[in-house]
Amino acid sequence: MKLYNTLTRQKEEFVPADGRTAGIYACGPTVYSPAHIGNMRTYLFVDWLRRALKFEGYAVKHVMNVTDVGHLTDDADGGEDKVVKESRERKTDPWEIARAVTERFFADIDELNVERPEIVCKATGHIPQMIAFTGALMQKGHAYETPDGIYFDISTFPGYGRLSGLDLEAQQAGARVEVNPYKRHSADFALWKKAPREHIMQWESPWGMGYPGWHIECSAMGLQYLGERFDIHTGGVDHIPVHHENEIAQSEALLGHPAVRFWMHGEFLLIDGGKMSKSLGNLYTLADLAERGYSPAHFRYFCAGAHYRNKLNFTWEGIDAAKTSYDRLLAAVRAHRDGTDAVSAEPYLTQMREAAGDDLNIPKAVGALWSMVRQPGRSQAVYDAVMEIDRVLGLRLDSAPQAAEERTTDTVPPDVQALVETRQAAKAAKNYAEADRIRDELRAMGYELTDTKEGVQCRKV
Ligand code: AMP
Ligand code: ZN
Repeated sequence: MKLYNTLTRQKEEFVPADGRTAGIYACGPTVYSPAHIGNMRTYLFVDWLRRALKFEGYAVKHVMNVTDVGHLTDDADGGEDKVVKESRERKTDPWEIARAVTERFFADIDELNVERPEIVCKATGHIPQMIAFTGALMQKGHAYETPDGIYFDISTFPGYGRLSGLDLEAQQAGARVEVNPYKRHSADFALWKKAPREHIMQWESPWGMGYPGWHIECSAMGLQYLGERFDIHTGGVDHIPVHHENEIAQSEALLGHPAVRFWMHGEFLLIDGGKMSKSLGNLYTLADLAERGYSPAHFRYFCAGAHYRNKLNFTWEGIDAAKTSYDRLLAAVRAHRDGTDAVSAEPYLTQMREAAGDDLNIPKAVGALWSMVRQPGRSQAVYDAVMEIDRVLGLRLDSAPQAAEERTTDTVPPDVQALVETRQAAKAAKNYAEADRIRDELRAMGYELTDTKEGVQCRKV
């Protein structure tokens, strides 16, 4: 199996260090407002990763944190704690906000058929571990105290910037005016923040009452649940330059060696070609999609159309096309059930398996899946192969094709319909030879195509 490692900037052969169980730490949600579909894309990427690993025969120990304290509105230590800010604005207890948002998060990922991690850990449940980690870094001379907190001193860690290829000297020279006058370097980051009396979430520490920084939570919980060395750490690409750079610095400074072998990052979901944000009113959740008639499965299929290291642009036309295509796929798959024709499955299964093992090339696997199911004839062997590869894809391909069946029962069988769609796609792509070939294939199966103003019509002759 090959996976792309952000740290080495190349695909590398992956085998768990112990040969059996892949230890994965996945940065989880900051639970101050419901997760949007961009966040969901990142959790789908991690789900495809864990499924592909299991498909290769490895066990998985997947740890995911829930950030319910410490993530400031600016990743680099500026602003207010996100959960506390939300709590102030909504005049609701921060613990209650975190609880409700977390509950909704898990309901959403369940609906997306995202497998739950083996271990889910909350930041607020691991404050002593973070305090101990911070204390150890101070003892080793990697951290210093200021009037407002404890900061990691990046000048004591020469490897800082390695993950993202940051040039610190250049960054320092061009840095914006530092808002925190106590920090020695603008990239030094908070391990612990001293809290003013009115701050709602705070704990006792050797440095007085306060709360942990965001980055230390992942290093401390990764160490607790996966040990000093583990296989894979994931997150969205936005985590590369600050959050993960800081995690590496903290962990390596404490342990004296790298903790993580493979760093993997999912690219962003864009909306109409741009960023999604509350202020632009384009921040959609799964509930927004459901309101417009798109199920979590449609969104999952939509995301399966792009490799996780490529940006994916969300548009309503795009999700609509995914819906149509997914519903057809279900119908085409179902048509193979109990079929007795001799239709080839094995070569396609090999292609799909290889695609999944080649840095999670899910779009390629889906392409091979389509090629397999749209072959003429019906075969249980094909159906079985689909169910096999669906262990990785997680598309619930054994579901009843509600919409698609309604459309096709009174016209033509789903496998024929799938061929018609393929021909239309070939025509649209100006691949007329392929379009003609499929027309002939349909004719041989006893179906005639007529191009009309309303589109193509297919009927049994
Ligand atoms: P947060 O809850 O803000 O900590 O983010 C949760 C996860 O979603 C992180 O791994 C982010 O990197 C990721 N993420 C945030 N925005 C997007 C986006 N537009 N597309 C894909 N992933 C995202
Ligand atoms: Zn993290």
